[in-house]
Amino acid sequence: MLRIENLTVRVEDRQILKDFNLNINKGEVHVLLGPNGAGKTTLIKAILGYKNYIIESGKIYFKGKDITNLSISERVSQGIGVLFQRPPEINGVKLSKLLSVCDQKRNSFIHKTSENACDSDLDDYMNNLTKRVKFSDHFLERDVNTGFSGGEVKRSEILQMMVMQPDLLLFDEPDSGVDVENVELIASVMRELLDRDKVPSKQEKSGLIITHLGYILKFLGHITRAHILMHGKILCSGNPKQIINAVMKNGFEKCKECISCID
Ligand code: ADP
Ligand code: MG
Ligand code: MG
Repeated sequence: MLRIENLTVRVEDRQILKDFNLNINKGEVHVLLGPNGAGKTTLIKAILGYKNYIIESGKIYFKGKDITNLSISERVSQGIGVLFQRPPEINGVKLSKLLSVCDQKRNSFIHKTSENACDSDLDDYMNNLTKRVKFSDHFLERDVNTGFSGGEVKRSEILQMMVMQPDLLLFDEPDSGVDVENVELIASVMRELLDRDKVPSKQEKSGLIITHLGYILKFLGHITRAHILMHGKILCSGNPKQIINAVMKNGFEKCKECISCID
């Protein structure tokens, strides 16, 4: 689904990712851990194609195609979705408007005309999704993220993902600044979006989850692999439980000394 080869990314005059490699197959969910400033969000932005995240060398492949030079909208239209760590407030744009644009885009990507669907069908569909994230109707009429609490921002982000239904889902700290109940709610939607309740042979979605806490992972079923990012490179990869335990015990810097976590 996603293959990143020897990626070096510069922001302004600093190299943030250095010779970075990652491979996520169809149906796999990986976790990326690492200290603040390691380059985790930079990785997400580079995968998406932000202009000021300059690819000095390396390649990004999505579903087998080289997307390194595609625009953000081309990448999104091919099925990459992101839950941002700190999405912007969009004054003057109602959440309902943003969701209906997401829905139109989604329909055009999958070549399904929405001509047959009438406005009331769309309203019902949106209302059901909105209920799923425990938003009351008035949220749809508020400006996107403006004055939203931490938990509300993440729920608004995941609502957009529910409409887009991407094949590769990138979650940048879906649990940061969110209370326990909201973490569990967000995790249950993530679980659904990632096909986690299907039998493994039917799991078609792939995910990359950036988190500082192991807590959210408890709700997501089997995690394929965990990676630790330090100073723009993968320090070690392996069994998620062992990696998280090693980080808890030894910290990021010394995690690698815990030989049992390296495979
Ligand atoms: P993480 O998500 O792992 O905490 P980031 O990827 O956000 O780390 O940041 C890695 C480094 O790159 C930090 O030192 C950060 O200040 C820098 N950086 C990221 N984006 C920008 C930017 N747009 N302009 C300048 N520096 C940036
Ligand atoms: Mg951070
Ligand atoms: Mg970050």
